Amino acid sequence: MSTIAAISTPNAAGGIGIVKISGPDAIAVADSVFACVGTKKLSELPGYSVRFGHVHDGEETLDQAVAIVYRAPKSYTGEDVVELQCHGGLFLMQQILRLCLKNGAVPAEPGEFTKRAFLNGKMDLTEAESVMTLISAHGRQAADAAFNVLQGSLSQEIKDIANVFIAAAAHMSAWVDYPDDEIEDLNFDKLKTDFQDARNKLSSLIDRFDMGQAITEGVETVIVGKPNVGKSTLMNLLLGRERSIVTEIAGTTRDVVEETARIGNVVLRLSDTAGIRESSDVVESIGIEYAKTKLSHSTLILAIIDGSKSLDDEDLAILKECKGKPSICIINKSDLGNVVKRSDVLDFVSTAVTISAKDKASYDVLREALEELLGTAEFDSSEAMLINERQLSCCQKSLVCIDEAIEAIDSGLTMDAVNVSVDAAIAPLLELTGERVSDAVVNEVFSKFCVGK
Ligand code: GDP
Repeated sequence: MSTIAAISTPNAAGGIGIVKISGPDAIAVADSVFACVGTKKLSELPGYSVRFGHVHDGEETLDQAVAIVYRAPKSYTGEDVVELQCHGGLFLMQQILRLCLKNGAVPAEPGEFTKRAFLNGKMDLTEAESVMTLISAHGRQAADAAFNVLQGSLSQEIKDIANVFIAAAAHMSAWVDYPDDEIEDLNFDKLKTDFQDARNKLSSLIDRFDMGQAITEGVETVIVGKPNVGKSTLMNLLLGRERSIVTEIAGTTRDVVEETARIGNVVLRLSDTAGIRESSDVVESIGIEYAKTKLSHSTLILAIIDGSKSLDDEDLAILKECKGKPSICIINKSDLGNVVKRSDVLDFVSTAVTISAKDKASYDVLREALEELLGTAEFDSSEAMLINERQLSCCQKSLVCIDEAIEAIDSGLTMDAVNVSVDAAIAPLLELTGERVSDAVVNEVFSKFCVGK
């Protein structure tokens, strides 16, 4: 196993920057670049020791620093780890990292520290995945939800579900393989009830997925409407409050720059404002095609109309595009009178609100409509939840097989037939927690991490 090193703090100047080294030679590498004040070397210290000292390249001193020593297995990765806390200058950090590499460490891949933690049994795959969700959380609920997964809430739920089938499979195999032994008869009614309970738990996890995503990842949102209805005013209303965080997280899943607005506990990812404004001009100039493409790529549509004037063909063309998709019609300019009523548009959209985008109080009306539409008002961040598509897909695959197993019991098929479906239901659950997972899946999971985590 190699010894890896990376800068674990953000790629920016800061009060403190951390170079993290992990692996069998971590302490030796640190000893060759760091001299403790006093005589002791880091290699003579027990785990959880902290020393002040200097980072040096031979005779040349680069920085004052603090070194923290962790001894395997009591560290994040489960390996020997040293963290060098230096002054957080970009150039300085890079120099110190280079020094570690010159002295025997290799550059860490994205997510490699967490991957090693997973491979060394410090955390399972759902917990590892929650680390990235926690790092990128935009709000309290997202952070709480990710933290609960990190604490093992999802693993536990999945293990409980898997154990029902593992126990059943063991019992059935014993019964089939050793028919002469005195193995308790299988009670199919009890088996079916257990399967159904487990199925319900799994299906409720799946049902909560979209809501969880709205909170942790945000909702791809597009604002559409013909010119002059108040799109820019609405943008300002949405962004004006918690004007958030333009995210450009290099090396993570999101490479595009987005404007994100947190409305209550929901994060709206408004693909860049220019694009949205452009779409209105395009409606005017080259027709509705561009807007249509934009709409098809979004999870949520905010369709805005000027409610003080009658709906015209252009409004209707836009509203028709909303049919069947999560959408809110914003009947704007209520201060100028309400010609358009909610009932006029509810055939096209999921819900509608009458507001004046100029009035700050409209923010709460929008927030309530959003929370109701996305179901996030009742979101309980202490409950287990799935945090990404990989986890969702594992649950969905398992659910199909559980249904087959229940059907096999119902139709009186042989125990062998039931067992085949039960085995097939277990596999995706073990893949989800990482208990039985291919290297390819593990590599894919960690490739989405940032370097240094
Ligand atoms: P866009 O072209 O759709 O982006 O529309 P704007 O946001 O630029 O708004 C067009 C005009 O309508 C501006 O003069 C706004 O001040 C005005 N406007 C927007 N919202 C309201 C509203 O709720 N009430 C009134 N009276 N005017 C509004």
